[in-house]
Amino acid sequence: MENCCRSCMPCLKRLWDWIWPELFYPNVAHPAEIRTVSGDIRVPAPKKKQSQLYAALFDFVARSEEELTVKEGDKLSVIEKRGDYVLAKKLTGSLESGLVPANYVALVQDEFANYKWYYGNINRQKAEKLLLAPQNKTGSFLVRISESHSDEYTISARSENSVFHFRIHRSAVGAYFVSDKISFATLDELIKYYQNNSRSLGCPLDQPCVQQRELFDMEPWERPREEFQLIKKLGEGHFGEVWEAVWTTKKQKVAVKMLKQEDTKLDEFVKEVHALKNLHHPKLIQLLALCTRGEPVYIVTELMIKGSLKSYLSAPEGQVLTSAHLIYMAGQIAEGMAYLEDRHIVHRDLAARNILVGDDLVCKVADFGLARIIKDSVYTASRNTKIPVRWTAPEAALYQRFSVKSDVWSFGVVLYEMMSRGKMPYDGMSRSISYRYFSLFTV
Ligand code: ATP
Repeated sequence: MENCCRSCMPCLKRLWDWIWPELFYPNVAHPAEIRTVSGDIRVPAPKKKQSQLYAALFDFVARSEEELTVKEGDKLSVIEKRGDYVLAKKLTGSLESGLVPANYVALVQDEFANYKWYYGNINRQKAEKLLLAPQNKTGSFLVRISESHSDEYTISARSENSVFHFRIHRSAVGAYFVSDKISFATLDELIKYYQNNSRSLGCPLDQPCVQQRELFDMEPWERPREEFQLIKKLGEGHFGEVWEAVWTTKKQKVAVKMLKQEDTKLDEFVKEVHALKNLHHPKLIQLLALCTRGEPVYIVTELMIKGSLKSYLSAPEGQVLTSAHLIYMAGQIAEGMAYLEDRHIVHRDLAARNILVGDDLVCKVADFGLARIIKDSVYTASRNTKIPVRWTAPEAALYQRFSVKSDVWSFGVVLYEMMSRGKMPYDGMSRSISYRYFSLFTV
């Protein structure tokens, strides 16, 4: 421990582990958490399952012959789901197959998002509308996910005042082709070829469609809201109500966060979603799906059956937790926060109310509404940002300097909330900090 700086989450986590070795942790089962990877939404056609590219999110060491050892980042194809596991095959190296916990694997998304011609999930009508807009001309084109085969793509290209659509097929080995006379290893190569050989397609491909891409079209997470049957209201936060719901097509219980109809802070809400999309960790709440077409917007996440840590601590179940239980839970929060630090994300609203509790004392960090990716090591908030003052480090509250270190401060306040079984930090202090949030503008 001599080299430990004791001011960042991983060091803090190591410190915990050092002070409280495994022996001191309560004997709590770790049920495999069911993470629905976004691949569920772009379900491949049965014959072509191998063309969906997945990656291992964490190292996993096989414990039996049935299981497959994977390293973080290994490229995999998922053959089928088996309960909490997926039967996966490695795409490089040994090409072995075996079972991996489903929450260790995620679909590699936005494979083509960096290409200006890629428009993701838009349908034929929308492609035509975009391409026929006056800013586009003959040769304008885009590539979209095929409506009938979700693992294939379609080129939509404008010629004069018409739009033509060409299906891009996938061969059994994953090659891309429009005509079976010539196939390509990557979609990019295929597009470049037809840009240079317009005659082969019968329609020129020059410049990508100039219309703005809609971010949500890039995501395979959009689901029809009819798939979610609301069961009971769980609570209400700044942005709206949270409901327990059943995802009927998957027969899975989920949490649905709804945007208040009159809420004008759509921007902030959308930011929360974007922060969630790219983060995958067993100790962070996992985004499962979105319903952004129509109102209210739904954000669908995994359901944490015991609700927020704040309310759990004050409930009878929370009141009887021993220090060992609480330390076990705090260790999980530190793990989730260490992952955020690793990705240069400052949470900025770490508090017991933003930790959710599941069965067997599983804790996950939630509410990335204020999370920001830090380019330098310190993020400066805009002056009208609202901050949770009781949980915020002085330099962040006074000078808007948020950093991993200010998150460590908040973690300390969370520890106080835990050890006091849910007491309000600085309880009884003067009115100036009696508001949970205050605007920096008023500092
Ligand atoms: P704010 O949005 O102002 O930070 P908040 O974090 O309490 O406040 P929400 O995140 O909207 O607000 O959550 C409201 C309540 O809904 C929570 O306190 C919790 O009890 C419940 N809740 C939220 N998400 C889930 C979930 N995934 N599973 C179970 N309960 C949840």
